[in-house]
Amino acid sequence: MPTPKTATREQWLKEAILALTPLFQDKGYAVPKCHVSCGFASTDVKRGHIGQCWSTKASADKVNQIFISPGLSDSVEVLDTLMHELVHAVDDCQNKHGPIFKKMALKLGMKGPMRSAGAGPELKVKLEKMAASLGAYPHAKLNVPRKVIDRRPRPRAKCSECGFTVPMLKAFMHYGPPICPKDKIDMTAIGEWE
Ligand SMILES: [Zn+2]
Ligand SMILES: [Zn+2]
Repeated sequence: MPTPKTATREQWLKEAILALTPLFQDKGYAVPKCHVSCGFASTDVKRGHIGQCWSTKASADKVNQIFISPGLSDSVEVLDTLMHELVHAVDDCQNKHGPIFKKMALKLGMKGPMRSAGAGPELKVKLEKMAASLGAYPHAKLNVPRKVIDRRPRPRAKCSECGFTVPMLKAFMHYGPPICPKDKIDMTAIGEWE
């Protein structure tokens, strides 16, 4: 790994925002002031979030806060993720990944399903150049475990007559599926019953 030009991850990420800002300006978008750091945005690691942006409303100083997962270490990937989060910041996280986000993302050269929209081929080239001039991201990739179990459909019970569905608590699963309060019949176990 080449010697990083910046000593800390935060410094690198701040410089990265400065480098990304003109891409937004070119399309008429103003990047707001943001706090940015490497870290888990939520404890919801299992969903595999690689970045997260928080609204100014959630921040005591009314400044957006962006977090880049410690699971990312490749500079281009970090820039790509940071750019996605900056789109949320420009929107102050008001429209999730809906049409307003999509319009902005496409204009900026991003592609893919909007929830995970990343750089299209042209933008990718720009990010690669940017990564080269920023120097190495001074971070060591953290191996973030993902709980496979949480991807499985949760245990539920469903009434075959009326469709009434309830989630099941693990502690009571040995009771078996309950009886539908409306139809008074045994409900069917759906999802992952262990
Ligand atoms: Zn997003
Ligand atoms: Zn029923």
